[in-house]
Amino acid sequence: MRKKLIAGNWKMYKNIASAEKFAEEFKKIYTKRNGVELAFCAPFLQLQVAKAGFAGTGIAVGAQNCHFEDEGAFTGEISVPMLAEVGVEYCIVGHSERRQYFAETDETVNKKLKKLLPAGILPILCVGEVLEQREAGVQEEVVKNQVVADFAGISAEDAKKVVIAYEPVWAIGTGKTATAAQAQEMCAFIRGVLAELYGKDTAEEVLIQYGGSVKPENASEILNMPDIDGALVGGASLVPEKFIKIAEF
Ligand code: PEP
Repeated sequence: MRKKLIAGNWKMYKNIASAEKFAEEFKKIYTKRNGVELAFCAPFLQLQVAKAGFAGTGIAVGAQNCHFEDEGAFTGEISVPMLAEVGVEYCIVGHSERRQYFAETDETVNKKLKKLLPAGILPILCVGEVLEQREAGVQEEVVKNQVVADFAGISAEDAKKVVIAYEPVWAIGTGKTATAAQAQEMCAFIRGVLAELYGKDTAEEVLIQYGGSVKPENASEILNMPDIDGALVGGASLVPEKFIKIAEF
């Protein structure tokens, strides 16, 4: 039985004071549920505040990106050892906003996975098609190509630790959600791709989330689908009362 992982992606929102306030408020309304894990992926400068704020709750903290070298002349970048020092449990990799605005490619995503996994930080790997690809009916081909390239050279043991977030780009921050059936179909498809790469047993262990305008109103239908093991939540993770309703799906 796979657990559900519901992760908030704060993107470039929240300063130190508002991150602290969020943790304080969220702790008051949060009750741990068996089989459901929560995480918040904070901006780099808010990671330590988030770690301190959620300490002792079982709520995990993640980063939103990393560099694929341990150190070097890479101005403005943050390495995996730096994240490990702060104690983050997760790191988002290949978010569509990074692919779209910061030239993230499947090659750099793959290098990042290969740094995170030995460091014990679990990647939340984002894949998904853009609107034109969905309209052309090539979403499966696009997502399969991403998964195959992103997992190149990664062992089955390591593959089990990767969380995949299926995020159709047309549903991110747009208020347009994939239907629960569309989300289930693509998450099941991704599990099939993993089965081709690693065998069915490994594929059954991998957590596959859906992300794209998840909110309290649609969380239950999406999160009760058999191949959807959680959600990556942007906008609705910024408000404690909204995120708790998703977590309580
Ligand atoms: C995201 O940032 O990964 C995301 C899914 O955003 P939103 O929930 O706002 O669509």
